[in-house]
Amino acid sequence: TSCSQSQQDALDSIRTQFTISEDTLLDIAKTFLREAAEGLASYGQSMAMMYVLIVVANQAHTNIPQPDVRKTGSTFLALDLGGTNLRVCEVTLHGDKTFSLRQQKYKVSEALKTGEVIALFDYLADSVDTFLTDSGSPSNAIPPSLAPNGSHDAFLRDNSDLSYIPLALTFSFPVEQTALDSGTLLTWTKGFSAKNAIGKDIVKLLQDAFDRKHIHVRCVALVNDTVGALLSRAYTSGGCILGAIFGTGTNGAYVEEVANITKLGNVPEAVEGGYMIVNTEWGAFNNTRSALPTTPYDNKLDRESINPRYQAFEKFISGMYLGEVARNVILSFIDASPKPLLFGGNSAPSLNKQWGLDTAVLSEIEEAWQGIGRFASGQPSIAGASDEEKLNHVRDVIVQRLGFTDPCQISLADADVVRQICGIVVTRAARLSSCAVAAILVQTGRARCAGSVEIAPLVDEGKRIGVGVDGSLVEFYPRFESMMRETLRALVGLEVEGRVDIGMAKDGSGAGAALCALVAHKQNM
Ligand code: ADP
Repeated sequence: TSCSQSQQDALDSIRTQFTISEDTLLDIAKTFLREAAEGLASYGQSMAMMYVLIVVANQAHTNIPQPDVRKTGSTFLALDLGGTNLRVCEVTLHGDKTFSLRQQKYKVSEALKTGEVIALFDYLADSVDTFLTDSGSPSNAIPPSLAPNGSHDAFLRDNSDLSYIPLALTFSFPVEQTALDSGTLLTWTKGFSAKNAIGKDIVKLLQDAFDRKHIHVRCVALVNDTVGALLSRAYTSGGCILGAIFGTGTNGAYVEEVANITKLGNVPEAVEGGYMIVNTEWGAFNNTRSALPTTPYDNKLDRESINPRYQAFEKFISGMYLGEVARNVILSFIDASPKPLLFGGNSAPSLNKQWGLDTAVLSEIEEAWQGIGRFASGQPSIAGASDEEKLNHVRDVIVQRLGFTDPCQISLADADVVRQICGIVVTRAARLSSCAVAAILVQTGRARCAGSVEIAPLVDEGKRIGVGVDGSLVEFYPRFESMMRETLRALVGLEVEGRVDIGMAKDGSGAGAALCALVAHKQNM
């Protein structure tokens, strides 16, 4: 089962290229702080640091207060576009830290992602219509206020005079937000490139699509998924300072003092001394890549992506890219000269295609190795299983998921090499993710960088620090959070790390959007 010497040497080289020392991680966190400061000071920086105008907390503390759902419940539609799936949800906030949610996912084809933006938004409107029709409320036929008793009940419980169904749009791309219900697209990310969209008001694009189709839905709020994660975690857990996404892409939103957002200029008295949510767009951190130790495999991915030189940080971290980085490394082993270092020089369909290796497979390989997930039941415990048994499972995953037709092409040593390559790529991602989290803790005064000689007291000294996370990578990759924590300890120390509560903001984009819609609603009342 053991690797050959040449495999071992090649693995050592990969490990060296992908391992980032604690000193370098600390430097990266410090560079992050500098770029964040630039984004707070002026517009047009790659880390956009967009403030979210509406959700202003004027309280002296910066945790988000529990929203006040005064009535028995508030129900909203939420539409979530921003990654692998389009989701339509009906969310009911119960006002007691709980919510209920019914959702339907729809696929967004490559043609829609890269075609005319009108076609994309027509599809969004149609999906909402389908969702409403499937739930027994044909919205295009009957305005809700005229609907027979019973239909649209949930939506109208608190607002019987409404002639439309309120919807919040979670739109997870860089947007310059000009009001709670409007914002213009700055750039596409994550494989989207629909034409004639940049610079347009996203809410207007959606509303026009509803209106064209006579669908009685009004888009009342525009939300980013990070803001949704922050709000929903704050709502369900009672306090949260950072919402972070590790899914198709990566990004974070946190609570900042208005006084620090100097690009705002003179602010109205109402927000002076207050706090605002800032959507960092940290996926674009260090687009120059001067601080990020970059391998040839990263360069290849970047060059072949639809947005070379953009979203640099994201390309080291998120679900859309990790499989592709691992694929590039695996291919270099297959093609090694003078002698192949994997599979006797044979490849497989998934490995031959750009984006062919899904990050979910990296999770599965690690689960097989650690004897967890579907590999847990009926198998010897991890302590009891021999490496050979575990590698047999890893090999099964590789054969099935990469599409090898002849399992004999894969030795257990090969399986071990692939497992280690995937682990190395994801470990780097988790450690870099931690730089972003650590930087936000320092930015908000809750932590100091390791080695700092500052003596000023920390903000909320001794208190729990809520961090809401969402995304398949952090949810499903084994030990992603514990790898992040390990690095966090090195960056900000054991004491602060121990007070950080990282919790899933499950369905954050739905519930968070509903919370935003609630705010919008109250502002309009
Ligand atoms: P989104 O970010 O689009 O809202 P997700 O959070 O589900 O949705 O992220 C999807 C991304 O996560 C895809 O890039 C996919 O490759 C990756 N992914 C899906 N399942 C897993 C998994 N089990 N482990 C790691 N990554 C996964």
